[in-house]
Amino acid sequence: MARPDLLIASQISAALRTALAERFTLHEGDPPATTRAIVGGGMAKVDAELLGKLPALEIVAIHGVGHDRLDLDALKARGVRVTTTPGVLTEDVADLAIGLMLAVQRRIAANDPLVRSGGWAAPLGRRASGRRIGIFGLGQIGHAIALRAAPFASELLYSARSEKPVPWRFMPGIAALAEASDVLILAAPGGAGTDRIVDAAVLDRLGPGGVLVNIARGSLVDEPALVAALAEGRIAGAGLDVFAEEPQIPEALRALENLVLAPHQGSATEEGRAEMRALVLANLDAHFAGKPLVTPLI
Ligand code: NAP
Repeated sequence: MARPDLLIASQISAALRTALAERFTLHEGDPPATTRAIVGGGMAKVDAELLGKLPALEIVAIHGVGHDRLDLDALKARGVRVTTTPGVLTEDVADLAIGLMLAVQRRIAANDPLVRSGGWAAPLGRRASGRRIGIFGLGQIGHAIALRAAPFASELLYSARSEKPVPWRFMPGIAALAEASDVLILAAPGGAGTDRIVDAAVLDRLGPGGVLVNIARGSLVDEPALVAALAEGRIAGAGLDVFAEEPQIPEALRALENLVLAPHQGSATEEGRAEMRALVLANLDAHFAGKPLVTPLI
């Protein structure tokens, strides 16, 4: 029997590609109308236009948890199933958030090239413990960040759409959260509800001693406003894993010294990626065997 057609909608690892090729006929670019499945990372885009070209589509299996570029309403209306890989990347992304926060405040990344080039005297960083840490978005990842951050924060605050039964202080909205925080960590999804929610006014509330960490989506931040705030010392620094137009990083951002940049590597551990891959394949195998999906989104 012919293998089902599958569209690869964004860059995926060689290991996932090999495993998919054992089960499907893979396509990239212009997919045939017989395409029954799509696989892509959390930045993969599936909109009404693409759906219109794929009358046989049955399932979209996302290798990640972000799904802000999927038109869920259109997918639902067509009865197309969607799966993500929740749970298996949570701890890795939370670890990276803490790593970025420490790297910015203690100048870990900035001092590395100094030592490599024979230097020794380290410019001073800022104390990382005893700060007020605010987390925007207290879902799976935000909660995991909070558990790590709480022991060395003077106060742990958070904001989300609704208050949670947690021991940390709820702040109604990002402006109040930024005002009350020394470190603002973004862990909410991208999409219409959070688009450029961190603007110049929010950055000014974070203030000259404040640090922004973004492991969520670049779309949450008004990037030109962030560049201006960093360049003018209106905030102290930033640690960024995600960008508005990644992988394009504005030169103005790259030129700044008081920030740490990462290539959207939140889930990029060998263990995490193997578990994500296994979950994508388990969902596809279940679907094509007529069994219940393992981690359905819709
Ligand atoms: P999640 O469990 O769905 O949690 C999302 C949280 O954001 C929830 O607490 C939710 O609030 C809150 N939220 C949603 N919309 C909001 C809004 N408009 N205003 C305020 N809060 C809002 O998601 P997750 O698994 O923690 O992942 C969070 C995001 O991280 C993903 O969507 C993805 O974009 C990003 N991510 C990045 C990487 C990376 O490699 N850097 C990896 C994985 C995920 P309620 O609980 O009140 O609904």
